[in-house]
Amino acid sequence: MTAPAMAINPNQTQPFLQQVMERSGQNLTACYQCRRCAAGCSVGDETDYFTPNLLIRMVVLGDRDQALSNQLVWKCVSCYTCGTRCPNDIQTARITETLKKMAKEEHLEPLQPKVAEFHDAFVRSGLRWGRVNEMEFMGAYEMKFALRKIKTREFGAIMDEIKTQARLGMEMTRLRRMHFGFLMAKGRKEIKALQRKSKQRATH
Ligand code: SF4
Ligand code: SF4
Repeated sequence: MTAPAMAINPNQTQPFLQQVMERSGQNLTACYQCRRCAAGCSVGDETDYFTPNLLIRMVVLGDRDQALSNQLVWKCVSCYTCGTRCPNDIQTARITETLKKMAKEEHLEPLQPKVAEFHDAFVRSGLRWGRVNEMEFMGAYEMKFALRKIKTREFGAIMDEIKTQARLGMEMTRLRRMHFGFLMAKGRKEIKALQRKSKQRATH
């Protein structure tokens, strides 16, 4: 398999690069394509050749369409291995997170709908309680998943998902990692304030 061709878009390059750098807090121009990040990416086998260095190159060249819609953006597990290996301290996890948010703001179809549903439910629950409430978060996630599968009449997939999650829930309960109450974190207001601030930055 060869690396995907990138579209060079001079009109798009500067504003897009600037936006991604500001929102992610990462200096993408420092990347000199040494590929140390690519060699250690945890999901490297799953991303159809999209490696952290390639993603950075896409942004730098202004290939907005591919940068906002590729498997690395949707499959990155934010393990920060690439950032640890990078001689220029570039944290690609922050870049993938930024691009995911931008894709959602532009209502692009997610390449991994399950990841998008999980992400939505996780963030909403975290913002409401200041910490993720497992019951609410999993309920919301399962609901989104089921609604999508009902549309395509994949009822078997819904049953399989319920069985998988029930097993996971039981295991988490056994390990005392499941909280049945609705606990609120002390820093809830600060977390909401941070989110408001980040939204304001995104719209400027
Ligand atoms: S390790 Fe850092 S400098 Fe090297 S290619 Fe990856 S992001 Fe660029
Ligand atoms: S943070 Fe994302 S891009 Fe970086 S190594 Fe982990 S999975 Fe790969």
